[in-house]
Amino acid sequence: MPVVRQTAAESAQAAGRRRPSFHTLTVAEVRRLTEDAIEVTFGVPAELAGRFDYLPGQYVALRTTLPDEDGEPHEIRRSYSICAEPRTFPDGSSEIRVAVKQDLGGLFSTWANAELKAGDTLDVMSPMGAFVSKHGRDGKAADQNVMNSMNHPEDLAGEAGSFVAIAAGSGITPVIAIARTLLAANPETRFDLIYANKAAMDVMFLEELADLKDKYPQRLAIHHVLSREQR
Ligand SMILES: Cc1cc2nc3c(=O)[nH]c(=O)nc-3n(C[C@H](O)[C@H](O)[C@H](O)COP(=O)(O)OP(=O)(O)OC[C@H]3O[C@@H](n4cnc5c(N)ncnc54)[C@H](O)[C@@H]3O)c2cc1C
Repeated sequence: MPVVRQTAAESAQAAGRRRPSFHTLTVAEVRRLTEDAIEVTFGVPAELAGRFDYLPGQYVALRTTLPDEDGEPHEIRRSYSICAEPRTFPDGSSEIRVAVKQDLGGLFSTWANAELKAGDTLDVMSPMGAFVSKHGRDGKAADQNVMNSMNHPEDLAGEAGSFVAIAAGSGITPVIAIARTLLAANPETRFDLIYANKAAMDVMFLEELADLKDKYPQRLAIHHVLSREQR
């Protein structure tokens, strides 16, 4: 039987047409990023992989039930940007990675930072959001097909551009996914990142950003701004 590969535009458009829905996913890994932030990786089985197609910059909603102030079970939903570039494994499965920074007094982020571990399950909504790179073939606003083809970075061969992103704190999460995707897609692409934090110990993805800089020394510039660091 001939194998027909859906084009990037077709697969992302099909995903976009579907109504977002919750699916129970298992936590594959919880990795500590800083004292008050974790990265959570959800495994996406092959049969759900199409539901979790995303464009770098999109987010998922997580749903669970936690005790409220009175100890009563309370269903809560919180949104988290996907912090990695899309990838599919040889068996057709994929993954969703998010980073959760603890918000002082925050219900979900405090629980996740203290309790969440590999093997736990959470309801994860299929990806949503329009904060995606709008890079077009001619450097002007992108048409939908170019944005969609970010799901398959190999389709962006021949695309190049210069990008500037400004992020603060946990706002780095969608930006790191976009930067990785665009830098990998074209050897001409340049990316300038201005990243603001209170102190060096608060910087999420410090090592990953340094690795990315090592990988693209001429094309990636990272400007750290630390508002409360002693000079
Ligand atoms: C599109 C989108 C993407 C996002 N991406 C990320 C991401 O990648 N990473 C990330 O870490 N976050 C992200 N967020 C924020 C995230 O969704 C949560 O809002 C955040 O984690 C806090 O949730 P929480 O349940 O811990 O806090 P909540 O319980 O919702 O509390 C939030 C704040 O309100 C205060 N508060 C709560 N109740 C009261 C009260 N009664 N009186 C006074 N103050 C109160 C808390 O102390 C806390 O500071 C994103 C949000 C959106 C909308």
